[in-house]
Amino acid sequence: MPSFEEARRLILDSITPLASERVELLESLGRVTAEDIVAPWNLPSCDNAAMDGYAVRGDDCRQPAKLRVTGFLPAGAVAAAPVDAGCAIKIMTGAPIPPGGDTVVPFEDTEECGNQVQITAPVVRGQNIRLVGEDVRCGETVIAAGRVIRAAEIGMLASCGRALVSVHQKPAVAILSTGDELLEAGEPLAPGKVVDSNGMSLAAGIRACGATPVMLGIARDNRASHAQKMSEGLKADAFITSAGVSAGERDLVREVLAELGMRQVFRRVDIGPGAPTCFGLKDGKPIFCLPGNPVASMITFEEFVKPALLKMMGHRRVLKPLVRAILQEEVRKKPGKIKFLRVRLESVGGKLLAYSSGDQNTGILKTLLMADGLAVLASGRVSFSAGDEVEVHIISEDAEMLEP
Ligand code: AMP
Ligand code: MG
Repeated sequence: MPSFEEARRLILDSITPLASERVELLESLGRVTAEDIVAPWNLPSCDNAAMDGYAVRGDDCRQPAKLRVTGFLPAGAVAAAPVDAGCAIKIMTGAPIPPGGDTVVPFEDTEECGNQVQITAPVVRGQNIRLVGEDVRCGETVIAAGRVIRAAEIGMLASCGRALVSVHQKPAVAILSTGDELLEAGEPLAPGKVVDSNGMSLAAGIRACGATPVMLGIARDNRASHAQKMSEGLKADAFITSAGVSAGERDLVREVLAELGMRQVFRRVDIGPGAPTCFGLKDGKPIFCLPGNPVASMITFEEFVKPALLKMMGHRRVLKPLVRAILQEEVRKKPGKIKFLRVRLESVGGKLLAYSSGDQNTGILKTLLMADGLAVLASGRVSFSAGDEVEVHIISEDAEMLEP
C-alpha cells in the first residue's frame, strides 16, 4: 500500500497535460497558456508623454525660460509639426512626443502667459517621457507557455493585440455515484435512503478548479448498472466514482472497472479518512475510485484528484503549500497512517492557531463545512498535544482572507 506522498506521486507521474485549444481572450482567464506569447510590436509603440504638460527641447529650459506655445497634442493625436527651438507644444499623457521634443515639463512646473509658457522649476532633459519599447520589445516573449492567465496577463495579451489565445483544454470529468441507497438530489427522502451528495460536491469541486463535470447519475449495486454507466464514464478525459470500493460484498466498482479495461495502480492509501481510494488508468486516462463516505470523498478529491486535474489543464504548480499552525488541543490517532484533521484557523499575533472544527468521525460532514483546512498529522505519531506545530492544507479560499 503506497503512503500518501507515494500515492500522489504515482497519480501525478501518470498524468500529462491535455492538448491545446484557441479561446477568446476573456475565456482564457484562469487557464494555462499552451504557446509562448511573443510581442508583435514595441510597448509603448513610440516615445510618449508620461504627464500632462509641455513637450519641449530640454536645452531650452535653462532658467529663466519662456517658450512660445505652438500647438496642442491630446492623447490619440499625432504631431502635425515638430517642437521648434524656443517653442513648446502642449501635450497630454500618452500622446507621442513630436519630433524635436525630448522632454516633458508638467503643468505644475509652468505658468501660462498668453501664447507663452514660463518654466518655473528646474528641468532634467528627458524627464517624463516613456520610451519606445521600455516595457516590452517587439519579438520578446511576454508570457511563456505554461503560465496561468490572470487579469494582468489578460491585459498584456490585449496590449499585444491578441483576440484569441492558445490554452490547454479543460478536462471533461465524468462523475458516477454508486449505491442502491442513493436518491437523486432533489428527490424526497424515503426510508433507508440517502441523497447522493457526493455527485454534487464532486461536481462543485471539479468546476471550482476549472474543469467540466459530466454527471452520470447513480449506478445501482449490480454489475449491469455499473458496467453500463462506467462505459460512459470511460469516454471522458477523467473518471471519478464514489463508494463501492470497500470490502462489502456489493462493492463492485473496482471489479467492474477492471473488466472494462482499467489497469489498477493502487487500491488503498495509508490515510484516514480516505483509505479505500483506488487509482487506475485506461488508455492513459485517470480513473479515481473514491470512498463513499462524503467526508472521505471530499478529502480524497482535494488531496488526489484536484492536483491531477490541474496538471491536465497545464498547471505546473498543482500542490498547495502547507501552512504551519499551532494545534490548540490534544489529538490521538492511529499509528501508520496520516490523519487529516478538520481544523478551524485563527490568526493571532502573526501565528496561526488550529482548532479542531468538531467531531472528526468520518460520518460527520458538518465539521468539514466548518473547517478552514486539513491538518496533516504525520503517520508515525499517535498523539499530538496542545502547542504542537502542525502543517495545514488550507481548503477554504475564505480562510486566506482577512476581515477589514
Ligand atoms: P459504501 O462505500 O458504498 O459502503 O458507502 C459508504 C457510505 O457512504 C455509506 O454510508 C453510503 O451510504 C455513503 N454514500 C455512498 N455514496 C454516497 C453518495 N453519493 N452521497 C452520499 N453518501 C454516500
Ligand atoms: Mg455502497
